[in-house]
Amino acid sequence: MDTKLTFKGVNIKAVLAPLPAPLRTGSGILTHAPVLLVDILSKEGVVGLSYLFSPREDLLKCLKEGIDAIAALLIGREMDPAKVSDYLDSEFRLFGGSGILTMARAAIDMAIWDAISKARGIPLYKFLGGSKSTVSIYQSSGLGIGNIITLGGEAQKLIGKEFTAIKLRLGYPRIEDDLKAIKIVREAIGNEIALMVDYNQCLSSGEALRRCRFLDQFDLTWIEEPIHAEDLEGYASLRQELITPLQIGENLFSPTEFNRSILMKCSQYLMPDVAKVGGVSNWLTVADLCQRNSIPLSSHLYPEFSLHLLLSTKKSHYLEYVNWLNAIIEDPIRIEDGVCIPSNLPGVGMAWTLKLVEKYKI
Ligand SMILES: [Mg+2]
Repeated sequence: MDTKLTFKGVNIKAVLAPLPAPLRTGSGILTHAPVLLVDILSKEGVVGLSYLFSPREDLLKCLKEGIDAIAALLIGREMDPAKVSDYLDSEFRLFGGSGILTMARAAIDMAIWDAISKARGIPLYKFLGGSKSTVSIYQSSGLGIGNIITLGGEAQKLIGKEFTAIKLRLGYPRIEDDLKAIKIVREAIGNEIALMVDYNQCLSSGEALRRCRFLDQFDLTWIEEPIHAEDLEGYASLRQELITPLQIGENLFSPTEFNRSILMKCSQYLMPDVAKVGGVSNWLTVADLCQRNSIPLSSHLYPEFSLHLLLSTKKSHYLEYVNWLNAIIEDPIRIEDGVCIPSNLPGVGMAWTLKLVEKYKI
């Protein structure tokens, strides 16, 4: 098939995907996964898919309007990610800023990459030149802040037979409970399983230094977002004081912000969120920055997309796995022995489970 595609329009559905159990983090609780499912249509008939996750259901409407506005500008244009990006940069320069606009642009960019790799008939990672066959993965679907006593059993259940790494949310009111949670999980999973922890930005810098120094005794793979994501100076000084590597990136909204965090030596590891960073195109720029600075790259959410992106990243570290959309996506990604294995389906390899999409549509 000719790979040149022309943008024809967009279909967007808002869905509240059910979570197996509510997940409490240091900065709020998730009871459902609010998502927009985005189909972009080409004149040639190829449909590109993407989705946006919003921890706040009430902002789905704004995200949808952003995508609609961008789609209206693209009708009749070639679905070439670089050309689309240049054109949208010029259209939105006066508006400026990042946030909802960045994510709306990401939804279009991600779906375009899905469509053009589908048009070639190959998986996205192969289209991107990726030659790896697997990426390491960690279980991030649960272990929220809650009843500490039950964390051990939950961890064992989540690890199951597939996983060799897992993440625990921290940020209990008392530091003693953070430490207790780590001990209980570690005891349940043993020393062979890698353990990451995530504060979801909930600590002040003084409290972060106090708590994370205690955490240094536990051989954790990383400590994620202990303080506010924008406090890059705070991260740079925290890193100097700690042994455990820091992990940030899910709340950096452009390659420029990633570059700044690299120059300031904020963290040993980085984990872009493909939507918040602006899509596949910007992810590739960040991956290149990380490669040149020898920073291992992980991913935040969007496991279906992140799999392809990490398969095409030389210094890939860990894919964050969540099962939140398994109810509405056909053939969720395959995991075995701590790694994720891509399918041979063209594009990202996603399809919506339409019956259940109808059921959970809002
Ligand atoms: Mg996180």
